[in-house]
Amino acid sequence: MTASFLDQLEAVLDKPGLLRPGDGLERYESEWRGRYRSRALAVARPQDVSVLAAVVACCARHQIPVVAQGGNTGLVGGAVACGERRELLLSLDRMTAVRAVDAHSACMTVEAGCTLHNAARAAAEAGWRLPLALASGGSATIGGILATNAGGNETIRFGNARAMVLGVEAVLADGQVWHGLSPLRKDNAGYDLAQLLVGSEGTLAILSAATLALRPLPAQRAVAWLAVSSPAAALKVLGELRRVLDESLSAFELIPAQAIEFVQQLLPEATCPVASDSAWHVLVDCDCARPGESLRETLLMVLERLYADGAVNDAALAETEAQANAFWRLRESISDAQKTGGVSIKHDISLPVAEIPSFLDELLPMLQRQVPGIRPCVFGHLGDGNLHFNLSQPPDMAADGFLAREAELNELVFARVLARGGSIAAEHGIGLLRRDWLARSADPVALEAMRRIKQALDPNNLLNPGKVVG
Ligand SMILES: Cc1cc2nc3c(=O)[nH]c(=O)nc-3n(C[C@H](O)[C@H](O)[C@H](O)COP(=O)(O)OP(=O)(O)OC[C@H]3O[C@@H](n4cnc5c(N)ncnc54)[C@H](O)[C@@H]3O)c2cc1C
Repeated sequence: MTASFLDQLEAVLDKPGLLRPGDGLERYESEWRGRYRSRALAVARPQDVSVLAAVVACCARHQIPVVAQGGNTGLVGGAVACGERRELLLSLDRMTAVRAVDAHSACMTVEAGCTLHNAARAAAEAGWRLPLALASGGSATIGGILATNAGGNETIRFGNARAMVLGVEAVLADGQVWHGLSPLRKDNAGYDLAQLLVGSEGTLAILSAATLALRPLPAQRAVAWLAVSSPAAALKVLGELRRVLDESLSAFELIPAQAIEFVQQLLPEATCPVASDSAWHVLVDCDCARPGESLRETLLMVLERLYADGAVNDAALAETEAQANAFWRLRESISDAQKTGGVSIKHDISLPVAEIPSFLDELLPMLQRQVPGIRPCVFGHLGDGNLHFNLSQPPDMAADGFLAREAELNELVFARVLARGGSIAAEHGIGLLRRDWLARSADPVALEAMRRIKQALDPNNLLNPGKVVG
């Protein structure tokens, strides 16, 4: 049965399009965190949507499950093929074309396997901005980004990935192609299927291309690094910047001193932009399409006021683009740098922004009591209430001993997140990692509706089975 399936796939795909075990599948089979490992039947790499559709139809005929994979940077095990039934890994890495940039409708149409950076570069070459910024953008693909409804640094201004989606082209579980690409900003003709597929993590359809809304390129920008005494002070700064900068505020990132310490262990040449030894820091980025210097002047004026008020302890305004990039490099190195502190237990949570200071005041001492010496490295997109609540092992504790406490620490963290009306999966999705927590914590009516949608679109549970609600 497997042999005849693979023979049929071979007839559909060209030579580079099918990798069987022994053909170098490794880079598709391991994932970024090294937490899960695929055992794929094979890897299919279609070069266009008709071949993609033929592959999915072949899987449907043989009842072979399919796991879509983009850049394989997902952090919840969504793109691994490790189910009970042997699964086909379906990589979009040969479908990378930018099909068109439409200046009149301010949008672009891109294939699912195109990386975020390549799509953004093509938009910029045509004079436009693709409004999404992720540290993983060199590898993460448009398909993966839409399938996970990725967030990122600029969500506070532009929203999550779904906000830029005007239409998608997708292959359904039986191999039919839905031609839903569209530049329309207004289309209320029936249910919004494109938005249903966004965030579905490969469980409802395979995305093959998307039409994405673009914005004007920035003409002026101001970036600042601030030292603040507490998350409450950071919130005060956020409120003031939002009020004065309005739409121009594009990122507001909270960074603890612990994260800077980890980054300096990884990159000894990295310097903190401010001398202050504050426990908390904030990275602010703002820009607008209007030319001039007014934004920098406005930011400076507000920061001076906040300094006089005591909300800001110290501040550095980037003088050059290179300096702004260096500030961001510090921020974007945190995930990698945390590995210098040994193993960690991570939570991608969101909370109503106003709850964050008291949430941290409640939970951080509790964690110290639970695991003395634990090193919380809590950072992220404070502007939209999304924290990477990462806990590094105590220096004098064995890695295995710390990881053995994961379930207990998850209970502690998620119980308090849910009690405050937050989410246990803010931007990385559910995948395998948070499937049980979704089942435990979602509204039962919503969960049942999700299961019915899955059943309607994928009755044989062939698309990424075992993930999300499958
Ligand atoms: C250093 C680093 C920083 C990150 N920063 C952020 C961040 O700021 N914000 C954020 O939201 N995430 C972030 N992530 C997580 C990750 O980059 C995103 O989830 C990203 O959207 C995944 O894209 P990908 O192409 O790598 O998808 P993959 O990892 O390949 O797949 C992710 C999921 O999407 C599905 N999928 C992939 N392609 C398709 C397709 N064509 N059709 C249907 N389903 C598909 C897969 O089956 C899987 O369930 C970060 C990751 C790393 C490693």
